[in-house]
Amino acid sequence: MNRLDNKVAVVTGGTSGIGEATAELFVSEGASVVICGRSTEKGEALAARLGDKVAFVTADVTREADIEATINLAIQQFGGLDILFNNAGGPTADGVLTVTESDIQYAMSLLFSSVVLGIKHAVPHIEKRGGGAIINNSSIAAIRDSQGAMLYSAAKAAVTHYTRLAGTRLGPKNIRVNAISPGAIATPIFWGGSARANTLPDEENSRKMAKLQGNLAKATPLPSSGLSEDIASAALFLASDEGRYVNCHDLVVDGGRSQIFNQPGEIR
Ligand code: NAP
Repeated sequence: MNRLDNKVAVVTGGTSGIGEATAELFVSEGASVVICGRSTEKGEALAARLGDKVAFVTADVTREADIEATINLAIQQFGGLDILFNNAGGPTADGVLTVTESDIQYAMSLLFSSVVLGIKHAVPHIEKRGGGAIINNSSIAAIRDSQGAMLYSAAKAAVTHYTRLAGTRLGPKNIRVNAISPGAIATPIFWGGSARANTLPDEENSRKMAKLQGNLAKATPLPSSGLSEDIASAALFLASDEGRYVNCHDLVVDGGRSQIFNQPGEIR
């Protein structure tokens, strides 16, 4: 219940799915949390529901200034920063023959640059607290084909390896850097757009979620799909003192899905 007492965390992409569940869990464990996302209405509603230990800022993580503003809000509102969960992300384009330069730039900006720049702006503040934890949300798409679109998978592979590199560089500052690689987790990422926020009404999201959970369960060794709460629990372990000696690690949370053979993706 008190594993994050007196800690301040930033969770990017906290308006939905894994980020929302993580913000909720971190607050229940005693942390103050800044969440960000593009959906102002959803972010403000979530912050109001979770109480005065949560602050929301509208931010697009493809913009460095927005990332910096998100980190700065944690300092202004809660007095410092101990934990950064680089979680924001969404689907990106696929295809060997149809890919465009802007597809590549968008995928790398959303999924990889956001992580690099989040770390850049968080580290000076985490250092002032004597250390802390950075967690990057990667994916099993980083380690196996057919788990995600090509650009998404390659960008996530960059996230996983950057995590190792940052962990070795920041370890001496007592800053641990780890990745989580979720498998198929039932969230609106499966129907939300990437270039726009998910604005579906709650009832429609719930209806789609029930169907999605059934479908994902069929593609995983365990008899159920992954839930946002499963990834939130992994993030809590890595953020808290329970994970104090875990650094440069990629924690796969996929119910065994990455061990299943998949056909290679088609060439488009
Ligand atoms: P989700 O429910 O769609 O949530 C995505 C979150 O990212 C939302 O809060 C969204 O907020 C935010 N976001 C997207 N683009 C953004 C941008 N440009 N700037 C700021 N925020 C942005 O999806 P999720 O499944 O929880 O995804 C969270 C992370 O887990 C992603 O990095 C994803 O790649 C990773 N992941 C998910 C799965 C899975 O099966 N679900 C598997 C592996 C990895 P707004 O819409 O308000 O901007």
